[in-house]
Amino acid sequence: MFFIFGIGPKTKVIQKSQFLCPVCRTRNTYELKQQRNYFSLFFIPLIPLSKAKGEFVKCLNCGTEMPSTVLNHAQPD
Ligand SMILES: [Zn+2]
Repeated sequence: MFFIFGIGPKTKVIQKSQFLCPVCRTRNTYELKQQRNYFSLFFIPLIPLSKAKGEFVKCLNCGTEMPSTVLNHAQPD
C-alpha cells in the first residue's frame, strides 16, 4: 500500500470586500488571503504545520497581490 504525503502551502480566503486599489486607482473587490504550510496526505491538507505565514491582498480587477497593510490606508469611506 502506498501513501502519498507532502508538505505544502495552502492559501485560504479569509475576507472579501472592497478597497481602493493603488494599482487600478479605482474601487474594486479584493480578497484577503492567508497562507500556511500543511502536512497533507493524498493531496488533502490535514495538519497545519506553522502559524499563519502572512496575509496578502489580491485585487480581483488587476490581479495584483500586495501586503495586507494597503488596507490600512486605502479603506473606502
Ligand atoms: Zn487593482
